[in-house]
Amino acid sequence: MMNIALIAHDQKKEKLVEFTIAYEEILRKHTLFATGTTGKRIMNATTLQIHRFQSGPLGGDQQIGAKIANNEMDMVVFFRDPLTAQPHEPDVSALMRLCDVYHVPLATNMGTAEILLKGLQAGFVDWRKHH
Ligand code: PGA
Repeated sequence: MMNIALIAHDQKKEKLVEFTIAYEEILRKHTLFATGTTGKRIMNATTLQIHRFQSGPLGGDQQIGAKIANNEMDMVVFFRDPLTAQPHEPDVSALMRLCDVYHVPLATNMGTAEILLKGLQAGFVDWRKHH
């Protein structure tokens, strides 16, 4: 059982919701976390249970970053909006940076996210040894 964080900027929320519907049965086997609005949207569209943090602009990305720094996050799916400036851009960069510091797989788009989930389903969880 892995701890997985799900985050999407506003223009990408619909895509992430579609993703969680498509992969609901795989995701259900894990412990899920999300920023506030993203988590609410996913819970409205699926039967998944999600631990919700603050909304991203209010510190949610930093709360997820803290989980990473505590070695309590195993995978991050973060559908960023590459076309819109975000007020909390420093938090976004910090979260991605911590993923790299702690070798946490990070998917920033649907293609990578699908490969990560399929790898998870197949039992490719070796990255946990690399801490
Ligand atoms: P939200 O936060 O899920 O609360 O919208 C995500 C973000 O915008 O970083």
